[in-house]
Amino acid sequence: MPIKKTLVISNQNTEGPMDDGNAPPDHLQPFMLDVSQLRGRIVRLPQVANDILAAHNYPPAISRLLAEALCLTTLLAGMLKFDGIFTLQLKGQGALKTMVCDITTGGMLRGYAYFSEEKLAALGAAPDLMTLAVKGYLAFTVDQANSAERYQGITELAGSTLTEAVQHYFRQSEQIDTGFVTQIDQDKDGAWKIAGILLQQLAREGGTPLSDTDEDAWRRSMMLLNTLQPGELLDEVTPLNTILYKLFHEEGIRVFPPLAITKGCRCSIDKIRTVIDGLSVDEQQEYADNGVITVTCEFCNKHYEIPVASIDKGE
Ligand SMILES: [Zn+2]
Repeated sequence: MPIKKTLVISNQNTEGPMDDGNAPPDHLQPFMLDVSQLRGRIVRLPQVANDILAAHNYPPAISRLLAEALCLTTLLAGMLKFDGIFTLQLKGQGALKTMVCDITTGGMLRGYAYFSEEKLAALGAAPDLMTLAVKGYLAFTVDQANSAERYQGITELAGSTLTEAVQHYFRQSEQIDTGFVTQIDQDKDGAWKIAGILLQQLAREGGTPLSDTDEDAWRRSMMLLNTLQPGELLDEVTPLNTILYKLFHEEGIRVFPPLAITKGCRCSIDKIRTVIDGLSVDEQQEYADNGVITVTCEFCNKHYEIPVASIDKGE
């Protein structure tokens, strides 16, 4: 079946082997289903997300939610059409106060959570999303590099998992049918295994409704997606492209160059200094201990020690 129109997807071509080739273990694999005209991305994060979670050492319920958020953030990195940063933010008024994950166009991923240990302890072993993040909402932000331009979408939390909440946002706010599957597990040694897949309609001009053919294609592809077995994406022995082929070979699948995902933080002493410079002298004195302000990056736990004397240059 011929492809109906030119695809507007940056940095992608139509070549690509069906094994993962030389892709690193942590990678995001974009793909396209020619017959149903859907785009998708599949990701597995055996090392990177685990490194991020191990560095924080949060209680299990927070780690699991952050694992899911890191997976979804990586899948949504495709929202970046130009150089920039995609941020997924979850805010709540219960045990969970804030969870933030972001990823650069180059695949550098990070995330952290801020929560009340006391409130969390009162919730039991495995609280669901709504119990953790009472009166919560989600924010999706795209910051384009070298530009003040910023896109932000905000929605109230709906659903019992973060994956459902993100899916709900795309249906309601973006009006783009999007299907997500995320699989998260922790092995007996405590290592996290994280993988996910996204399937999405191409954006239609001016909100044109789906044709019957498109509706059929969507339903058919979602049925195929839902044949995934629990934990199937996590099995590192099976290359991601083998899974894609098994699921969608009848839909004319094409894969594009994968994006390597790395753990990384963009904090720097210069950025911290700018924040401290923005404080009044009184505030600086308040935060200082023996003339030094210690700042810890919440994303990567790196400590910065800034002597107040070096800030008060004007005095
Ligand atoms: Zn940092």
